[in-house]
Amino acid sequence: MNYPDTQVGTPVPVSPAFSAQYKSVLGVTTGPKSSWEKTGCIGKTDWALTYDDGPSPNTPMVLAELAKHNYKSTFFVVGSQVKKYPEILLQAYQAGMEIGVHTWTHPFLTHLTNEQIVSEIMYTFHIIKDVLGIDCRYVRAPYGDTNDRVRGVIQALGFVLIRWNRDTDDALTNGKSVVAKFDAFMNQTVFGTISLEHDLNLSTAQQTPYGMNKLAKSPYTERTISQCTGEAAYGRKEPFPSNTSLSQTTVSAQTAIQTSASSIPSTISSLPRVSTTKSADKRMQYPLFGLAILLFTI
Ligand SMILES: [Zn+2]
Repeated sequence: MNYPDTQVGTPVPVSPAFSAQYKSVLGVTTGPKSSWEKTGCIGKTDWALTYDDGPSPNTPMVLAELAKHNYKSTFFVVGSQVKKYPEILLQAYQAGMEIGVHTWTHPFLTHLTNEQIVSEIMYTFHIIKDVLGIDCRYVRAPYGDTNDRVRGVIQALGFVLIRWNRDTDDALTNGKSVVAKFDAFMNQTVFGTISLEHDLNLSTAQQTPYGMNKLAKSPYTERTISQCTGEAAYGRKEPFPSNTSLSQTTVSAQTAIQTSASSIPSTISSLPRVSTTKSADKRMQYPLFGLAILLFTI
């Protein structure tokens, strides 16, 4: 598959092939209510650390800290970043991390057409599959920006949406809030947690040990998202034909059985490589209206 060069900030061009393949999805106008979106862990003492917006040159620093504690966490990756750093995605997966989809260019999904959403999600799904040989089932919407239509489209494609219930706010503070947030988390009532951080962010990566040490001394047990929700991370199945109702598609997506991760395919060598220099990526630029949405929704 030829992957677009489109980077974060500009929606990926619509793929005519995806639009034809998922014609039934293009007509979706609504979907399940917000309660359908998974926001926390089932187990009260479970804690799923999640990292978004990578892979990036800072990701290995996070992986090294996780390895010290033998923690397995979940990374929601951006397709255009995977195209730049496939070897870092591979490193995370081989270290036992779970991988999910976080779109190709990190747009506000509620601002896109169904065709654009399909291309954002499916390009990312396929490049992950090319690199790792897995069929991701979990999707996280950039900025948590969803509505009934976006949820309906993503569900009809056969994915499960994952949100969070504890935000370190590192995206808003360039990582400066991570320490104070983990201190605050530990003083709150214990409940099943999905926390949000960004491995694109150098400061977040540098502060990873603090959160790790806090968790190690807490009543919480580190979990991946699949352990946290009790549903398989991989094994997405293609949607049924267009005459299948959305509710039937829902059942299909939620009962998909995990397939074993295959060996790393040779296609990784065909993906473009960019040397992992020491220079940190510029953090993704979150538009002001994005901040407003975050403040209203979190
Ligand atoms: Zn993000």
